[in-house]
Formats: sequence, C-alpha cells, structure tokens
Amino acid sequence: MPRGPDPSSIELAARLHANAELATILTTSRLSPSITEVVIQGDLNLVGPPGSDVMIRVLDAKGRYVRRRYSVRGIDASAASFALWIVTSHEGPGATWASTAQAGDLVDVVGPRGKITLDPLADWHLFVGDTSGLAAFYRMAQSIEVPGRAIFIVEVARMDDALTAPFDEGLGVTGIFVDRQSRPHDDSSGLLSGLSAFALPPDLGHAYVFGEFHVMRAIASALGDRGLEEHQISTKAFWRTGRHNAEMGEPERDV
Ligand SMILES: Cc1cc2nc3c(=O)[nH]c(=O)nc-3n(C[C@H](O)[C@H](O)[C@H](O)COP(=O)(O)OP(=O)(O)OC[C@H]3O[C@@H](n4cnc5c(N)ncnc54)[C@H](O)[C@@H]3O)c2cc1C
Repeated sequence: MPRGPDPSSIELAARLHANAELATILTTSRLSPSITEVVIQGDLNLVGPPGSDVMIRVLDAKGRYVRRRYSVRGIDASAASFALWIVTSHEGPGATWASTAQAGDLVDVVGPRGKITLDPLADWHLFVGDTSGLAAFYRMAQSIEVPGRAIFIVEVARMDDALTAPFDEGLGVTGIFVDRQSRPHDDSSGLLSGLSAFALPPDLGHAYVFGEFHVMRAIASALGDRGLEEHQISTKAFWRTGRHNAEMGEPERDV
C-alpha cells in the first residue's frame, strides 16, 4: 500500500510551487446524467482560490499514468475536504476514474493549479462555457462580494445537466442554459446565440470562458466584437473535440 504521492507528483509539485498528497475519496455521487461529484479528503493547501484546479493522476486505457485537471467546486473546511464536478459522458481516463471511484480509494493530487481568479474590480462577471466549466463558474460566483452581478451562459448536453447553485441574496444572478441538441461539440453556434441574446451591462465587466478549445476561441472573439477589451476576457480551453488531453492535462494547442 503506497504511503505518499508518487515521486513524479512530488517533483512536479516542487517545480510548480504547489503541493502533492495521496488523498482519500470521501464520497462520489452522480449529480446529473453527465456530471459526477467526487469529494476528496486531504490537505486543503492543495486548493487555491476560486477558479483554481487540482491535478489528478489517473491510468489511461494503455495502463500509463496521465494527469487530468479539475476545478474545485467547493471546500468543506470542517471535513478537510473539497469537491470536484467531473463530466463523465465521454470515454477518457479522467471520466473513467471519476465514474468508477469509490469512497476510501486513494488518489494522487497535485495542487493548487491555475492562474484565472475573480477580477476584484469588475462590477459584473460573465461566465460562458460548457458543463466542464460549471464547478469553476459556481465557486467563483459564490465568492463575488455583494452587491455584484453574475451572468452564466452555459451549454449543456441535456437540460438535466443544468445544475444550479445557491447564491447570496444580494447578488444579481442571470442564468441562460443552452441545450446543445445534436450539434457537434466544437460547434459554437449555440453559445454564440445565447450570448447574442444577452445585453452586456454598461459598467465594468469581466468574462471567464472555460470549455471546448474551438468554442472558447469563438466566444472570446465574439466578446471582443461586443466591446470587451482583452484584459476583460479570461479564457481557458479545458478539452478539445476528438482528442485526448495531453499527459499533463491540457488540450493540445496546434491547429
Ligand atoms: C484547468 C482545467 C480545469 C478543468 N476543470 C474541469 C472540471 O471542473 N470538470 C470537468 O469535467 N472537466 C474539467 N476540465 C477538463 C478535463 O480535464 C478534460 O475534459 C479532460 O480531457 C477529461 O479527461 P478524460 O481523460 O476524461 O478525457 P480525454 O482523454 O482528455 O479525452 C477523451 C475524449 O473525450 C472527449 N472529451 C473530453 N472532455 C469532454 C467533455 N467535457 N465533454 C465531451 N467530450 C469530452 C475528448 O474530445 C476526447 O475525444 C478541466 C481542464 C483544465 C485544463
């Protein structure tokens, strides 16, 4: 029985100025047809501010270890645990790990990771993406100081995946869920039409765009056309249609 994280995780954490731990799965639950929640008990120094993620070491179909990154949905300090919301509707090492994980299993975690956090100067915060972005979107929005405004435009594979979250009463919340229907995953038209249906508020805003590689590019460009400056748009491709993410958990960037 291993007593600590793999040496490669310890090295990686040292290089990233992060932490590594062999943590324990506390619970797993299927929240919707596509989303599984995995709650991990471990050192909360693995977790960064809202918007950050952790790297999980999983086995791929060929028996090689790869890492997959998942945003932290929330922390329970009293239980020293944190939750991940993981899309499990496709086949991949991360999805397989999440759908077969059981309470008591050990999991090799490196964190915190990620550079995108909430813009403290923004009057409104626009979260655009797909189900893989929901954990980050909701944790970030729950950290907005009231009075503030959060707008969500999220594409879901089916409406049962349109999970909601509780927010402070003083927060203005607008949510638009777009049903992907049978459109391909790299088709941005659903999110673009959700975005065009929404009039951006006049004061200072910040957009956070997390999801599929091609769609995120199209959304960032549309937001620029709508008048947002580059520094007002934080975009991160979480995955890429038709390709495995690379060994360290990022989608490949070449064309
Ligand atoms: C910083 C960061 C934070 C992330 N946070 C989250 C998170 O909170 N929750 C989450 O679910 N994901 C999140 N992701 C994405 C997750 O790491 C990737 O989806 C990852 O590729 C899934 O790994 P996998 O091993 O299951 O599939 P892979 O081996 O990467 O891919 C296998 C196949 O599945 C397809 N695929 C991958 N993801 C999806 C998807 N979401 N929907 C449909 N098809 C898909 C791929 O196109 C490929 O064809 C994050 C990624 C990054 C970089």
